[in-house]
Amino acid sequence: MPNTTVVGAGLGGLATAIRLQNRGHQVTVFEQADGVGGKMGQFEQNGFRFDTGPSLFTMPQYVDELLAFAEDPVLFDKIKLDTVCHYFWNDGTTLSASSNTDKFDENAHLALGIPRGTILKVLKDCKIKYDLSGSIFLENSLHKWKTWFNVDVLKALMQLPRLDIFSTMNSANQQLCSNPKLLQFLGRFATYNGSDPYQAPGILNMIPHFEHNVGTFYPTKGIFSIAESLYLTAKKLGVQFNFQHSVDSILVEGKEAKGVVVSGKKIASDYVVCNMDVNLAYPRLLKNQKQPKRILNQEKSTSAIIFYWGIAKSFDELDLHNILFSNNYPLEFKCLSLGKITDDPTLYINITSKITKTDAPQGMENWFVMINAPADNNQNWDEIVTKLRKNVINKINKNLNTKIEENIVCERILTPPDIEKTTFSHKGALYGTSSNSPLSAFMRHPNFSQNIKKLFFCGGSVHPGGGIPLALLSAKIVDKIISDG
Ligand SMILES: Cc1cc2nc3c(=O)[nH]c(=O)nc-3n(C[C@H](O)[C@H](O)[C@H](O)COP(=O)(O)OP(=O)(O)OC[C@H]3O[C@@H](n4cnc5c(N)ncnc54)[C@H](O)[C@@H]3O)c2cc1C
Repeated sequence: MPNTTVVGAGLGGLATAIRLQNRGHQVTVFEQADGVGGKMGQFEQNGFRFDTGPSLFTMPQYVDELLAFAEDPVLFDKIKLDTVCHYFWNDGTTLSASSNTDKFDENAHLALGIPRGTILKVLKDCKIKYDLSGSIFLENSLHKWKTWFNVDVLKALMQLPRLDIFSTMNSANQQLCSNPKLLQFLGRFATYNGSDPYQAPGILNMIPHFEHNVGTFYPTKGIFSIAESLYLTAKKLGVQFNFQHSVDSILVEGKEAKGVVVSGKKIASDYVVCNMDVNLAYPRLLKNQKQPKRILNQEKSTSAIIFYWGIAKSFDELDLHNILFSNNYPLEFKCLSLGKITDDPTLYINITSKITKTDAPQGMENWFVMINAPADNNQNWDEIVTKLRKNVINKINKNLNTKIEENIVCERILTPPDIEKTTFSHKGALYGTSSNSPLSAFMRHPNFSQNIKKLFFCGGSVHPGGGIPLALLSAKIVDKIISDG
């Protein structure tokens, strides 16, 4: 039975541990924090429960696949949402994105004045992009020749113009519609991997397919219950976990990974899988090895500032997922590219107590208010947060006609440096490198080392990218490469 060490118990690490243990390896996980989940964490404060990181859950089949490996998995309850998201604009326009695409189309016609059928046409285009290229780009290593010699690739090549690889997301969307609010809605999906719709390639317009054609889900005990159920299932399969154990280095002998060093102690293994952000793993765990500089020097994805607020009031006009859009979207992304945040940023408000009533005291709500922020480059975050807090409060007050500051009964704030400190994510970037260039998919670090045998990489900083579904798919690719030998 091969021994395998996994560095980190984020989603990629948990998923890899389950897959390899199921394949007959004895897997041991080392995690520097005191529990699993990495960016997917939770905390409680003054009677409110908050998920720390991800809040939007799509493609649950990738979690179900993992749980199915155990005879008696620890399952988590989930529901499919009827309303995907509520959108608000400063001029008073609101749009409810129903999970029923016909209803969403009608709502968009009434709210934005766009011709009936526009939403359906746009969502069809997203599906075509996913059907043509999703499995090639998301479920296979782009760095293995085998991926490129099959019928699916030929089909995709024959339809290359439909993939919009060489246009930006925004310009590709302009071919389908012209309404500025609809373009803003569609551009927003670039932020799902920390990118910019005015730079990122049009192929990323497949992202809304997950949310609107396949569906948006919510685990009824909160997002953290996904990590918890993967952890408990991994333990049932026999995976060994060591918390508060930071890996200091990866042992390499004769160009082959031989294990890890934890607190000065060598721990031998046949394979090593690294779930630590690859941008920090090289300088910290593989100091004496050749550094893939071109990959590591790439632009980072965006980070975020989050206000976790206990709110002593209930807002009927808000749902689980809510977006309050900025007035000037191009300016918002221009500011991010310059390392700044605009004075009128787009706000995302997630309120899990809308569904999980125990997440807040009765009559109150747990608000997770997230603003896209640049990755950390030693900005003065205290100054940025003070100014941003005022702007956020003003925007909420105007959009919801309220005085929200009077209702904030508890608060915690998360900044890009906090994200780096707690989850070892380089510069606090949420999704590793940005996807702002047409070749960005090829510029992510592969799921294996090209110089060191038996060393593999999983998680949101490597191929196929960040976000819950893709971090889980990175583990599937690692498993496939190891089993192919
Ligand atoms: C604020 C925020 C909002 C987000 N929103 C969404 C969303 O709505 N939907 C979505 O799909 N995705 C979202 N994401 C992205 C998603 O959370 C991540 O892509 C995904 O969780 C990353 O998983 P990962 O496998 O890369 O591991 P990570 O979560 O990065 O975990 C890596 C783990 O490795 C551990 N580690 C690192 N170095 C060492 C070491 N040397 N020794 C031991 N342990 C180590 C860390 O402590 C950590 O636990 C969000 C992320 C954040 C932060």
